[in-house]
Amino acid sequence: MTNSLEWRPAPAPATHDLAVLRRAAKKCTACPLHRHATQTVFGEGASDASLVLVGEQPGDAEDRTGQPFVGPAGKLLDRALEEAGIDRSATYVTNAVKHFKWEPAGKRRIHRKPGARDMAACRPWLEGELRIVRPRVLCASAERPHSPWWAGRRGCSATAARFSSRTSARAR
Ligand code: SF4
Repeated sequence: MTNSLEWRPAPAPATHDLAVLRRAAKKCTACPLHRHATQTVFGEGASDASLVLVGEQPGDAEDRTGQPFVGPAGKLLDRALEEAGIDRSATYVTNAVKHFKWEPAGKRRIHRKPGARDMAACRPWLEGELRIVRPRVLCASAERPHSPWWAGRRGCSATAARFSSRTSARAR
């Protein structure tokens, strides 16, 4: 039985410093997902990136390393960016939800899709990242983040869109 009081908006500080935001996110307990995850997986990359890529949530490898897009989805992303001639270090990559949601299956940890309450609780971190990075292009592999940043902005390129559908379908 879940209690809706277990979800509240994440306490993201009003800052223009990504390092401050990242440090605050490490201690976040605004929804139940932190209980079974290893650590917060915050975004990484250039703080002035023109392109921001937003995944749904960290996977098993990301949860263990604390870095976004280092597992199978990250390998697909690297290939897609290479095909598009985009230097990953010039981008900023992050997830809509910062803790890994999973369920056990024998010795494995199987990805579980974050729910609307998880996404809503975690949104202040993503909003903070976007406020600081201020990308020209925002590409989400999950549902579009409910962010005012989408308004009037360009969507994904063909390659990024391909990455989107491939990661959603295969890299979990
Ligand atoms: S998933 Fe997001 S809101 Fe929930 S505890 Fe982790 S960082 Fe906080």
